[in-house]
Amino acid sequence: MLAGKRALVTGSTSGIGLGIAKSLASRGAAIVLNGFGDSKDVEALCKQFHDTYKVNVDYTPCDLSSPSQIEALFTNGPAKDLDVLVNNAGIQHVAPVDTFPVSMWDKVIAVNLSSVFHTTRLALPGMRRQNWGRIVNIASVHGLVGSVEKSAYVSSKHGVVGFTKTVALELAKTGVTCNAICPGWVLTPLVQRQIDAKASAGKISNAEAQTLLLQEKQPSLQFATPESLGELASFLCSDAANEIRGVAWACDGGWTAQ
Ligand code: NAD
Repeated sequence: MLAGKRALVTGSTSGIGLGIAKSLASRGAAIVLNGFGDSKDVEALCKQFHDTYKVNVDYTPCDLSSPSQIEALFTNGPAKDLDVLVNNAGIQHVAPVDTFPVSMWDKVIAVNLSSVFHTTRLALPGMRRQNWGRIVNIASVHGLVGSVEKSAYVSSKHGVVGFTKTVALELAKTGVTCNAICPGWVLTPLVQRQIDAKASAGKISNAEAQTLLLQEKQPSLQFATPESLGELASFLCSDAANEIRGVAWACDGGWTAQ
């Protein structure tokens, strides 16, 4: 279904982005991987993609907090001529707003929100030219509702949802769609760090902290998975999703239905 298409998945050396990159590759898309990681691990990951899915794989270490690195990635790098752009890279910092470190606020907004603006503006001319493209933004339930001590993250993700709607409307008469996915808890390194903090603050086991985390927010008491989010992203890239435009699609075990 995506044979002949080229997809960049930001933040795909780990977690949800990796799940999405695998799902797109399994449908035949050539993949540009991105994110931080040890060079040997990244090399092994590229080989794994190549061997498993028989698709072309590139990797870019582009730091998405840097607009000039993003610009270079799109002008001379492997993100030239993209068909599919998945804006997935994201970071979290947890602290009350009155003691939230200013440098972390700037960093969270740069990686989670401003990078989405930059990659989108740079990918769009090519997508418009061919009158086909897919932009999938991995926002969060925190793009729809708030939570304490996550002011920068919640602001960035609400921004991503708003940006998605605006881009979708600007592209409404074209073959380029833009949508957001809003996951609830997914057990990735980003969330494991929050579970570890909860376990050490409450002097409880990791398993107990995990259960508490789910009980607070996610009625199904199950984590969403990178694999299921990959399938959802691939669906949004399919022709069946031609008229899905500007949605913020939750995959959250019922979190935002409450
Ligand atoms: P993760 O920490 O497992 O992966 C993050 C990826 O982003 C990694 O590949 C990392 O190297 C990359 N990255 C981080 N900063 C970067 C930068 N400056 N430049 C380039 N790459 C960078 O996290 P995850 O849980 O898989 O999260 C992926 C996305 O899903 C994020 O946008 C996150 O906000 C969102 N999300 C996660 C959850 C969850 O429960 N895990 C829930 C909702 C939304």
